Amino acid sequence: MPTDPMRTDKKARKPLPPGATLGVLGGGQLGRMFSQAASKMGYRVCVLDPAADSPAAEVSALHIKAGFDDPVALAELAEVCDAVTTEFENVPADSLRFLQNSIPVSPMPEAVEIAQNRNREKTFFKEHNLPVNRCAAITEASQIAAAFESMSGKAVIKTARFGYDGKGQQVCTSAAEVESAFAEFGGVECILEDFVPFDCEVSVVLARDIHGNVETFPVVENQHINSILDLCIVPARVPAAVLEKAQVIAASLAEALDYVGVLAIEMFVCGESISLNEIAPRPHNSGHYTMDACNYSQFDQQVRTLVGLPVARVDLHQPAVMLNVLGDLILANGFDWSNVQSVSNAHVHIYGKSEARVARKMAHINLLGDNVASLMAKAKSLKQL
Ligand code: AMP
Repeated sequence: MPTDPMRTDKKARKPLPPGATLGVLGGGQLGRMFSQAASKMGYRVCVLDPAADSPAAEVSALHIKAGFDDPVALAELAEVCDAVTTEFENVPADSLRFLQNSIPVSPMPEAVEIAQNRNREKTFFKEHNLPVNRCAAITEASQIAAAFESMSGKAVIKTARFGYDGKGQQVCTSAAEVESAFAEFGGVECILEDFVPFDCEVSVVLARDIHGNVETFPVVENQHINSILDLCIVPARVPAAVLEKAQVIAASLAEALDYVGVLAIEMFVCGESISLNEIAPRPHNSGHYTMDACNYSQFDQQVRTLVGLPVARVDLHQPAVMLNVLGDLILANGFDWSNVQSVSNAHVHIYGKSEARVARKMAHINLLGDNVASLMAKAKSLKQL
């Protein structure tokens, strides 16, 4: 990817001092935790989000209540802020480009655009010789038979854009099933991926600064329930060679993107081999353990890379297991936060969402301990609470 001229300027720029105002596009829990990290470092945060009850706005100095493509709101954001980042990938790249004309923006719009579309993402991986499983873009039903034929007999069709937590995707065992899923998705651009019989899923969260220094957090093992992240285990229980390979692949992807900011990379592990699933151009749910288990969190690194500070060297203090708390749990009879808050070495982060809904991420719990086996036992008993 060609180096953008803004980046060259940014390289020369001095870090923004405490007291500067940082903008964040999106007002969910990731924006909230970014804002908390920023305020710890003395920065003010301005949130752009249309929702009146935004979890991020609740803890931030300023809130512009408007859509992400509202030109008046974007102009105000550029006026008020000294630099801007995003907490979600579906922000219009043109909004980032507009902001980039007057203030530093990270990550840059080109990287966000790649992460917004699964076909672009996979094409980028292939072009840079990064390991990726068989896949094919589907834009018309007539492409499905040949695409399915080239795979192993089991494949996953996914909408190219706007899918998350398993939404907009279906596992299929025949071309006919793929065709009906494609029709059900409204004939929008899709990707067909060969089904990966993985041993486990891992992710790497990293930060890259304006000088090109990369710092990767320890590799996380991810377990899902109904395609929603349920539990993360650190260090991931995979061979040391796989841990190292995952970090090397992640760092080379960040280099290839000439990325600035925090990047999360999800991967499938089969034996000793790795294939890339998807990237998120922002902190990630699987990196929440860093808030308690590391000397710097993924949000600290997001702030540092945005203001132009060098990435901090990262240490894992202790093994960790992170549990997501979904609305389902809070809606269940007899749920009581104090049961969880009374457990020792269980760090509870509550997102301040006004309403609990099924499958809505409401909080997470970081369990810290001496080893993963005992933490997994603790996680199990905590779930039973
Ligand atoms: P994604 O939205 O791409 O992260 O997919 C959600 C979940 O579906 C992943 O975490 C996997 O558990 C599963 N999944 C996605 N793609 C594949 C694939 N190609 N093969 C097997 N499982 C998959």
